[in-house]
Amino acid sequence: MKTIGILGGMSAASTQGYYRLMCELAREKLGGLHSPELLIRSVDFATIEQMQMAGEWAALGGRLNAEARALESGGAELLLLATNTMHKVVEPMMAGVGVPLLHIADATAARIVAAGFARPGLMATRFTMEEHFYRARLEAAGLLPVIPSEADRAETHRIIYEELCRDEVRGESRAAYEAIAARLGEAGADCLILGCTEIGMLLGPDNSPLPVFDTTRIHCEAALEMALV
Ligand code: GLU
Repeated sequence: MKTIGILGGMSAASTQGYYRLMCELAREKLGGLHSPELLIRSVDFATIEQMQMAGEWAALGGRLNAEARALESGGAELLLLATNTMHKVVEPMMAGVGVPLLHIADATAARIVAAGFARPGLMATRFTMEEHFYRARLEAAGLLPVIPSEADRAETHRIIYEELCRDEVRGESRAAYEAIAARLGEAGADCLILGCTEIGMLLGPDNSPLPVFDTTRIHCEAALEMALV
C-alpha cells in the first residue's frame, strides 16, 4: 500500500473527516486490522485564512510548496490537498515535487461523468464558486456547473468560515443549505457538488434535494484506490 500524504488543516474539521473516512474505507476494503498508510500535515488555518483574505495567493503557493516538499521527503508517494479552495494554488504548490497529486476537482468530475450527470450545482467558498481555477477543471471534463445566486453564494461562504471551519453544526444553517441546493435544482442543476470539504457536515444523500457528490468522500475513495494498485 502506498503512503498517502495529506496536506490538511484547512480546516482542521475537514482533515478530521478525511482521517476518519480513510480509516473506515481501508477497513471496509481490506478488513481485519487494516488501516491506511498516511502522513498528515495539519497547518494552522487562522494564518491561511488571513492570507486568503489579504489576497496573498503567491505567498500561499510558496507555503504549500514547502509543505508538499516536506511530505515528499517524509515518504509520501501520493499527495492530497485536503481543501477545494486551496487548489487555486496547486501549480506553485507542486513545483519541483516528484510525487503525483490527486486533484480534487478532477476526481469529482470523473465521478459525475461516470454517473451520467452533466450540470452539477456547485456549493463551495466564494473563491471556488466564482473563480476560474475550479470551474475550468469541471468544464474540461465536459460538465456545465451551475453557480448559486449572489445572495446564496454569500450565505454558503459565510457558513463555511463562521461555522463549519470552527466545527460548529447548526440546524438553521442545514436548512439554509437545503434551500440553496433546492434553488440550484430549480436553476437547472441535475446533481450537487459539495465543493468544500466541510459541507458534508450539513448536507448529504439523506437531506439533499439533488444527487450528491461529496468532494471529501470522492477524494478519499479515489486516493485509496490509487494507493492500493
Ligand atoms: N475546506 C474548504 C474547501 O474545501 C474551505 C477552507 C479553505 O479555504 O481551505 O474549500
